[in-house]
Amino acid sequence: MPGIYLHIPFCKQACHYCNFHFSTSLKYKAEMVEAMIRELRLRQDYLVDKELDSIYFGGGTPSLLTEGELMRFFEEIGKCFTLRPNAEITLEANPDDLTKEKIAALRRTPVNRLSIGIQSFFEEDLRFFNRAHDAREARACLEEALAAGFGNLTADLIYGSPTTSDAHWEENLNIAFGYKIPHVSCYALTVEERTALFHFIKRGQSPPVQEEHAARQFEMLVAAMRGHGYIQYEISNFALPGHFAIHNASYWKGEPYLGIGPSAHSYNGESRQWNVANNAKYLREVTSPFQAGSLLKEVSSQTMPFFEVEYLSPADRYNEYVMTGLRTIWGVGLGRLREMGEEYERHFLECIRPFLENGQAERAGEVVRLTDAGKFLADGIAAETFVSDS
Ligand code: SF4
Repeated sequence: MPGIYLHIPFCKQACHYCNFHFSTSLKYKAEMVEAMIRELRLRQDYLVDKELDSIYFGGGTPSLLTEGELMRFFEEIGKCFTLRPNAEITLEANPDDLTKEKIAALRRTPVNRLSIGIQSFFEEDLRFFNRAHDAREARACLEEALAAGFGNLTADLIYGSPTTSDAHWEENLNIAFGYKIPHVSCYALTVEERTALFHFIKRGQSPPVQEEHAARQFEMLVAAMRGHGYIQYEISNFALPGHFAIHNASYWKGEPYLGIGPSAHSYNGESRQWNVANNAKYLREVTSPFQAGSLLKEVSSQTMPFFEVEYLSPADRYNEYVMTGLRTIWGVGLGRLREMGEEYERHFLECIRPFLENGQAERAGEVVRLTDAGKFLADGIAAETFVSDS
């Protein structure tokens, strides 16, 4: 079922590990909201099914939006789409934004799920990451959100940082369990090029990130989550029964979604599109009357000036399906591969055999999944099964 993703490309400060698209200048926030609303109107027909199962405000930092700005989005979405009953409406929020007043304001909007970027409950980690919040705010925002009735929460945590000892990682998880948060996403600290962390490590100003350290903490994570009744329904995502994320799960199941805002991606089953990751260019292109004309005209030919399109070949579809399938609880369905072509099923079974034999993957009837031993290596294992177009 379709969903909408809205990328709010602003942050108060740059986290050292982050390679998402954002600007730390909030000068054009109001203009950006109006431009995104314009894009939403112009591209509403991208989704054939107008009944939405999910809306996701990501970023960047969507909790920088005022109540009025959020309501502008909901007004426009309401004109173009209908929301199914129980639609999931998630807003990513940073702890330093989630004051009591802000949470009360969010409760007045249709937002019914908060995704909170806690990352760690320890000062040492938060300073290393250059987060805008401190350890006290990490706890306070959860307490305030729960007290205000936001039961549907998810928290992000980072493991594998050189500042995170095993004892601190265990404590981070225990604190999250203590709040009974129904959904937790945990990511290994990765060092992406063009981030401050990459340069600090390269210049020897920061200790490197060790894969064995992250692998060990991943093992601790999987065991602790299981012990507390969480289901690992995707490599990095853990939920109590009944709390799988609708929006994220729809990505992994290949449902269509419309991405609005700079750098946002869209998918309609045939192609992927991504908007320009540049706020000034996006504002210029989306708001220009001339471009809007071509925008409208070219929606059908999918050559809008501020985004690029990639049509998926049969090999791309196979690779994407295997990549996401191996990361999730739903696994890779052999029947689905057969529908793509028997040669894909044969190729997959041949390539996955060594992992079935060494215990990193398992087969149950028509489904192949990774075992705990294979999950940390999911992307590498998937890559071994890929096909190329040639
Ligand atoms: S708040 Fe989120 S999007 Fe912004 S810099 Fe930090 S990690 Fe990146």
